[in-house]
Amino acid sequence: MRRKDFLKTGGLLIASSLFNTCRGKVQKEKEYKTGEGSVKVSTIIYELQLRQAWTLSRGTWNTRRNVLVRLEKDGIVAYGESAPIPRYNESAESNREFIQRALPVLEKDLWEYQDRWRELEALAPGQNAAKAALDMAILDWVGKSLRIPLYRFFGLDRNRTLPTTFSIGIDTVEVMQKTAQSAPAFRRLKIKAGVADDKKHIEGLRQVTDRPLVVDANEGWKDRQQALEMINWMAERGVEFVEQPMSADNLEDHRWLKERVKIPIMADESVHKIQDVPALASAFHGINVKLMKCGGLQEALRLVAVARAHGLKLMIGCMIESSLAIAAAATLTPLFDYADLDGNILINNDPFRGLTLEGDRWLLPDKPGLGVEPVIPEW
Ligand code: MG
Repeated sequence: MRRKDFLKTGGLLIASSLFNTCRGKVQKEKEYKTGEGSVKVSTIIYELQLRQAWTLSRGTWNTRRNVLVRLEKDGIVAYGESAPIPRYNESAESNREFIQRALPVLEKDLWEYQDRWRELEALAPGQNAAKAALDMAILDWVGKSLRIPLYRFFGLDRNRTLPTTFSIGIDTVEVMQKTAQSAPAFRRLKIKAGVADDKKHIEGLRQVTDRPLVVDANEGWKDRQQALEMINWMAERGVEFVEQPMSADNLEDHRWLKERVKIPIMADESVHKIQDVPALASAFHGINVKLMKCGGLQEALRLVAVARAHGLKLMIGCMIESSLAIAAAATLTPLFDYADLDGNILINNDPFRGLTLEGDRWLLPDKPGLGVEPVIPEW
């Protein structure tokens, strides 16, 4: 819905404002509210500050701008978060625009959450992080309305959440070594790769740790010979599996690679929704499911079923996200083989609290819905 149309239907636009939290600047923009007795939705674009520069094969970031959603209906307040993925033409602004367009969907019965997801999916292609935020908020609302934690709603065991890997971005060998040493509680480290110095980085890390490694090339290797050589070299150095060796749409070379590698290869950028899975089954050993990529918890659950039906391994991953979105993903980990849910550990101004780390495993809050609460004033 366009802003003009929305105002016509009785919405109230509260002027943009800027305010400061004790730990970081928050940009609070365009809070929309509908009439009494109906749904009230407001969004904040929140700048997450990374503890150290975050470098992948495709770029470097010091901050990430996510959209936080507050949804209130029938006296229940629920939350969602989008971490827009620039790789798929998403920004905080485009995600927020989608969320505003989705207001008529949110006005409907949220108990029929499966229908609401289909309607969100039909609103526009892409903008999956925004869909994930709304799906998250709707299910948080359902859990809170039932007064049960979401893990219980899904029939999952809170004591069976998986340990998470700890991610190390591309940097100098010294910095990568120090980062590895700064996180002794994590039994498995995830190393970003896909650049010229990959071998130097792995050798450097092996000087300071003998923990199992997983490697994410983020499409960085240019051809199948290079990918094969790198993966089998890494296999001999305690790397357990490699994520997305080459470009997402190059399934033919990944099929060639799958027949030759000594350790599993996992699809990340190659997989979004359930319809992607059948073609990937012959090209990868497993898939990395992310809420922001697939469009939320409901589609993640469907991906689990479809991937298992194709004999694929499953990992659940994340973007740079607050404890809110990490709590949502952590809830599903009992259904997965591996978890890479450390986005909130890499930031220093987490706008949510309630999710705690026990060693390298997330302890889910035993509260209704997602169980985390915002620490943002005046929201
Ligand atoms: Mg990845």
